[in-house]
Amino acid sequence: MDYVIAGCGGAGINAASAIRKLDKKGKIVIISKDDPYTPVFLADYLLGEDESKLHIVEKDFFEKLKLEFIKGEIKQVRDSSVTLNNGEEIGFDRLLIATGSKPFRPPVPGIDKENIFTFHSLGDAARIKEVARESERAAVVGAGPVGLEIAYALTELGLKVFVIEMMERVLPGIVDEEIAEMVESEFRRLGVEIITGRKVEEFTGEKKVKSLIAGDEIEVDLAVLSTGVTPNLPEMEGIRIRQGVVVDRRMESSKEGVFAAGDVAEAEDVFGTFCLTPTWTSAVTQGKIAGTNMAGGNVYHEGSIRMNIVKKSDVPVLSVGKMEGDSETFRGGKIFRRAYFDGDFLTGFQSAGIHSDLSLSGLIQFLIKKRVPVKDKKLFVRRPQSFRNWSRLHNLALAGNS
Ligand SMILES: Cc1cc2nc3c(=O)[nH]c(=O)nc-3n(C[C@H](O)[C@H](O)[C@H](O)COP(=O)(O)OP(=O)(O)OC[C@H]3O[C@@H](n4cnc5c(N)ncnc54)[C@H](O)[C@@H]3O)c2cc1C
Repeated sequence: MDYVIAGCGGAGINAASAIRKLDKKGKIVIISKDDPYTPVFLADYLLGEDESKLHIVEKDFFEKLKLEFIKGEIKQVRDSSVTLNNGEEIGFDRLLIATGSKPFRPPVPGIDKENIFTFHSLGDAARIKEVARESERAAVVGAGPVGLEIAYALTELGLKVFVIEMMERVLPGIVDEEIAEMVESEFRRLGVEIITGRKVEEFTGEKKVKSLIAGDEIEVDLAVLSTGVTPNLPEMEGIRIRQGVVVDRRMESSKEGVFAAGDVAEAEDVFGTFCLTPTWTSAVTQGKIAGTNMAGGNVYHEGSIRMNIVKKSDVPVLSVGKMEGDSETFRGGKIFRRAYFDGDFLTGFQSAGIHSDLSLSGLIQFLIKKRVPVKDKKLFVRRPQSFRNWSRLHNLALAGNS
């Protein structure tokens, strides 16, 4: 069997390992524009952490698993072959599309000026690091989890940072007003100017950015766009695409033998809605499932759950699932927690102010996925750790998934 994997991020790498577990002899070719790394720690890299923190495989990974690695870009997917940017054509029996996502650049006049960056790749982070050294003022456009991490990192590097968010509060769609306010006041305490409810109308300057207009004019030496991502789709024939490559619970697309996983895949979430789930955990899980099925296994994805963590600053945030339905809230000292329920079943959870809650993410996902009834909701938001006795089951479930 000849396998081709497009992309070597979390999804591609985990798919390759899963295929090799089942098929010791098949030819596996991984084609990727970049070497394997995770963007999850890019903000740490900006703050001076070694690049090796981003590496996701050992140096001998490809050799050990007998994988062929081609550094290149897939331009087109045909019936049983892919075409690379250099014109080379490579045939496959099974294909995985795991090309991730690309940053969205809003159509704002002046956005192509120098020193306006996205924050998606190691190259982006390296250039920002260089420019930040000789800059005093920076703007971050977008106050989602990644935007806030960049704002934190640039502030730590000594820059005066302005965060501009077009919605009325930070972390829109991720947390409720109370947590957004906690985060905003923490960032203000750190010296960050948070400007919400304003759209960037223009970037000014000759070659380099000089200022941005968002109601008022703000002078900056650099700007970082953190305005969302869209799937990175090579040209494809006969494969169903909506927001991303539409896949079933085996991660197979509408075309037999062609699979998709990670940021590029539009899959059913745990609540039965087809959506993109651009998170590292989803990419890893979906990659494993796709790889297993490509090599003749038969495993099903039980559905992704959106999860966001903002770990920098003294107001760490965890947000998991969907924030709809009845809710129960707990406030105590610096801690705020809110859980959402459908009857007795947990559907969403958000917490701010306490670092140890970040480690609840696995437990919360488990309770949502397995529909474990939560009878005492008040106790749950007060002491979610008390549900740790579920962790034995949780660990068993994880072992079953690995
Ligand atoms: C700054 C930042 C911070 C993040 N922090 C978190 C976090 O804290 N927690 C979390 O869960 N998620 C986080 N994410 C999201 C997470 O990193 C992604 O969801 C995850 O990396 C997606 O994995 P993937 O394998 O689908 O794609 P990627 O990891 O993006 O890998 C895609 C690969 O495909 C290659 N490629 C693209 N196009 C082609 C082509 N045409 N031909 C060949 N190769 C191609 C690329 O070079 C790359 O190697 C963060 C993302 C960013 C950018």
